[in-house]
Amino acid sequence: MDPLLKKILDASGVSGYEKEIAGIMQQELKKSCPEVIIDNFGNVIAKKGKGKKKIMLAAHMDEVGFLVKHINKEGFIHFIKVGGIDDRILLGQRVSIRTKKGPIRGIIGAKPPHLLKDEEAKRLVKYEDMFIDIGCKSKEDAQKKVEIADPIVFDADAGNLNGDLYYGKAIDNRVGCYALIKIMEKLKVTAEVYAVATVQEEVGLKGARTSSFKIDPEFAIAIDTTVAGDTPGIRETESALKLGEGVAITIIEAAGRGVIVNEKVKELFIETAKANKIKYQIDVIEGGMTDGAIIYMNREGIHTGVLSIPTRYIHSSTGVFNLNDLESAVDLAIKVLEKVAKA
Ligand SMILES: [Zn+2]
Repeated sequence: MDPLLKKILDASGVSGYEKEIAGIMQQELKKSCPEVIIDNFGNVIAKKGKGKKKIMLAAHMDEVGFLVKHINKEGFIHFIKVGGIDDRILLGQRVSIRTKKGPIRGIIGAKPPHLLKDEEAKRLVKYEDMFIDIGCKSKEDAQKKVEIADPIVFDADAGNLNGDLYYGKAIDNRVGCYALIKIMEKLKVTAEVYAVATVQEEVGLKGARTSSFKIDPEFAIAIDTTVAGDTPGIRETESALKLGEGVAITIIEAAGRGVIVNEKVKELFIETAKANKIKYQIDVIEGGMTDGAIIYMNREGIHTGVLSIPTRYIHSSTGVFNLNDLESAVDLAIKVLEKVAKA
């Protein structure tokens, strides 16, 4: 596995606390872009090339996670969720609390099944009723390690699952961040190209709003993940996207509450994929949004496309994706941008 991919997948960055991943993005984008800044909001903005047109690429670097809400008498930690996480996947997970002094290991616990009465056993345990065990005996003991409002991420341990399939936490959207670096490395066009690793996407597409206002591009591509439908329990009518079948060209998100890609832009992506024999799938999704949803409404409206990498178990402790789909996203973004710069 590419060590850079592993480093990006394992880095920490709950929405609003993206410092660690932002540092990596800044360092990596500097290798191909002469200008790289971190703005007031925390977005990493890299600029490369000269020309009449301004083009913006965006990939959010924040991840869903938690924040310490309360430390109880016995030294257990109660938490809030940041971003959309399903309570059912939380029990027993290992987490990492990112304290000022360094990471602290924690386990999300609840009452074991042996002790549950019938009615209790049938009920779904809510995150409010869970706690994080950091192995401390008392509040005082725990307070020496952890502070209220410290961010918490799922345990990081990205790796290869089998063949071209890889797993890790925060696949959404570190695969997009990795693609962003690769695109800027390879891209040679006569245009001002801005690559933005955005913050706070998972809590309302906020970094994309401020950065697209600043850049005011004529054309934009958001790179993110989308829901793969190739696991048991998902009907083909819900998602027909499959790992390894290519990058997903997203046409509509959240049944139209998110981006609705302009028909000309849609054709541009599809025609370019066909002409260059790049594997692609069409993504029409009833839930979820990307930075594209806010960029395309910037100022007077921006032609914006969305490229998504199909991902299994999105917003859980471990996602799975296919490296070839990531590569298709890089190839298609480059080919589309070459056309846009020439037009
Ligand atoms: Zn995302």
